[in-house]
This record gives sequence, C-alpha cells and structure tokens, in this order.
Amino acid sequence: MTADLVIVGGGPVGLVTAIEGALAGLQVTVLEARTPDQGSLDKACGEGLMPAGVAHLRRLGVEIDPEGSHAFGGIVWEEQGFRAVGRFPHGQGLGVRRLTLSRALRARAMVLGVELRDGIRATGLAPGGVSTEHGVVHGRLIVGADGLHSRVRKWAGLSAGVGPRKRFGLRRHVRMAPWSDQVEVYLADGVECYLTPAGPDQLGVAFLWSGSKERFETLLARFPQVAQRIQGAPQCSPDRGSGPLHQRVHSVLGEVQGTPVALVGDAAGYLDACTGEGLSLGFKQGQALVQLSVTGHLARYPRAHARVVRLPYTMMKGLLWASRVGVRKWLVRLMRSLPWVFGRVLAANDGRLF
Ligand SMILES: Cc1cc2nc3c(=O)[nH]c(=O)nc-3n(C[C@H](O)[C@H](O)[C@H](O)COP(=O)(O)OP(=O)(O)OC[C@H]3O[C@@H](n4cnc5c(N)ncnc54)[C@H](O)[C@@H]3O)c2cc1C
Repeated sequence: MTADLVIVGGGPVGLVTAIEGALAGLQVTVLEARTPDQGSLDKACGEGLMPAGVAHLRRLGVEIDPEGSHAFGGIVWEEQGFRAVGRFPHGQGLGVRRLTLSRALRARAMVLGVELRDGIRATGLAPGGVSTEHGVVHGRLIVGADGLHSRVRKWAGLSAGVGPRKRFGLRRHVRMAPWSDQVEVYLADGVECYLTPAGPDQLGVAFLWSGSKERFETLLARFPQVAQRIQGAPQCSPDRGSGPLHQRVHSVLGEVQGTPVALVGDAAGYLDACTGEGLSLGFKQGQALVQLSVTGHLARYPRAHARVVRLPYTMMKGLLWASRVGVRKWLVRLMRSLPWVFGRVLAANDGRLF
C-alpha cells in the first residue's frame, strides 16, 4: 500500500501534521522510533504552548487532560530585580507536559484513522518511500518531522549544518503547585531560566544558555531566587537536554529519486527556544504543508514556511542580539513601563498583529 503521507517522527509536529492530513482526507502513516511506554516520548521542552498553538489544537479536536496541563495568561521577564509582565491580549497559553500532549495527539490521530507505527526507526530514503529495518514504507510525500537532529534532512540533502549560535537547553520538573499563572523567565548573563506551570502540582524548570553542556545544578545556582523557591520540592521527571539548537537548512522541500520530501517542525531548521514558539510554529508548518499538498501546490511550501517563521525569527534574533550586546536589561525596563506594549509584542510574535 502507498500512503499519501509518510511522516517520519511522531513528536507533536509530526502528529499535528498527521491529523491535518487525515482531516483533509489523506491516508497517513507515522513512523516513530520510540514506543509510547514508560515516558519514552518525553523530551527537553519548556512546554509552554502559546495561545495560537492552543487554538490550533482546539480546531483539530485535540483534547488535553487538565491533570497534565495548566493555563497561563502571559509571560514575565525578570532581570536584575526588574520585572516586566506581559499579558496575552487574545486567549491563553497552556503549560502542557509532553507526555500529556503526546497522549492527546495520538488519541486524536488514531480516531481519525492515522496509522501509527511505533518502535519503527527510519533508516534512509528509498525510491518511493522510507527504509526501515522492516522494509520500505511507501508514500507519495515523505515528511521529515524527526526533530532537531533530523536524519531525513540529511538524507534529502537539505541540511546546511549547525549554526554559529551554540545554545543548549535542559529541563526538569518539580512536584509543587505553580505559584503563578504566567510563564516566568529569569534572565542572567548568557543563561535564562524558564518556569512553566505544567499541571496542578508540577512546575517545569528549563534553562537555555550559550556555551557548552552544563549540569542542572550548575545552571540553577545562577538563579538563587529560583533555587530558594523550589528548594525541597521533589524532582518528578528525569533531566532532559538538547542542543546545539541552531540548525540550518538549504530548503524545507526536496526530492529523492522522484519522491518529494518536505520538512516540518524542528527538522525544518531551528533557531532558538527563547520565545517559546517552537510547537506553534511547527503546527502552522504542518497545516500549510497539508493544504498545499492537497491543492497541488507543494512547490509553494518553502515560501509558506518562510512566511510562518519570518516575524518570530526576527524577534528571536532581536532578543538574542539584545542579550549578547548587553542591552536586554533596558528592554526589560522598557517593557516593565509599557505592559500594554509587551502584551502586543507577545501577540505579534504568536501571529496576532492586531
Ligand atoms: C529547553 C527547551 C525549551 C523549549 N521550550 C519550548 C516552549 O516553551 N514552547 C514551545 O512551543 N517550544 C519549546 N521548545 C521547542 C520545542 O520543544 C520543539 O520545537 C518541539 O519539540 C518540536 O517538535 P517536533 O515534533 O518537530 O520534534 P520532536 O519533538 O523532537 O519529535 C521528533 C520525533 O521524531 C522521532 N524520530 C527521530 N528520528 C527518527 C527516525 N529516524 N525514525 C522515526 N522516528 C524518529 C523522535 O523519536 C521524536 O519523537 C523548547 C525546546 C527546548 C530545547
């Protein structure tokens, strides 16, 4: 059998793309190297889904378990004792455990008839499909949704290597009731700490930093106010790290022996996680890809992808630049005195200019 879409990677973006495809009447197969047991689908992520991502999931009929999630109304930046509070003018974000998100997406995909093939690792691209240890899985369009270090990107000759910004991420969860209905971001030189409410009694603690790999405790020591607040709270997930985050591509669309190959999510190139938009952007890419593929305009996907990431990437670059050259603290002070503007900036970053 030849599927319309063979998606390599059953992470959130692969699954959203699969759901979009099934809703558009396509036959979809998802190959996922891992199996969903024992929390193996967990990964390093701040787990803050921005309002556009929440609305996207609602539109697709994905139902998130409240036990593994927690709504948040905006973002707080804190640097050198200055605290800027930005509230979303439209909708709410959702802190959602990866395992909860994964369960909800898989359930929806299965109801819609998506074939989920767990524990099947793609090992290469073959004429008309994807090679695995169990043979070739045939498809009309191959979708690389296999994350930051995508193999599909390499096999299709679309990778342009690691970018110059060597940033890394690491996260853990602690068992405690979140004290805020905002994602709190603490900023220090070369490192940030992100606190995301991820359930009624879970708080996600994530770091992003420049340089080389670090231990959780070393990073936490840079934020004594956070260390003090979470002191004594039991750790409730193993540490997960990721990086280098900056991955570049030549294009997000290619062809291998006559079969088109498209990239979505982190596989399609990645800049940074500092604005918490990775999931929402990936969902929009999956949506654009499916729409263009069913209307016969696949060649337009690279332009659509560029449109999706243009503004958020500009903001991300601006933020990274501001922290590199030491002007971020002034930005925090400005946003502190103009909370309305901060809210609008967050909305624009999330795709809502007005
Ligand atoms: C520290 C940190 C904090 C972050 N915070 C946020 C945040 O708050 N909000 C947000 O929106 N984003 C955040 N992000 C970014 C977000 O985690 C990613 O953008 C998102 O996980 C991308 O999803 P994906 O489905 O593209 O890739 P992944 O989640 O990486 O999924 C890829 C899947 O492909 C599978 N796979 C890989 N190779 C193969 C193969 N050969 N065959 C079959 N399957 C394969 C993997 O097992 C995996 O399940 C953060 C990232 C980091 C590192």
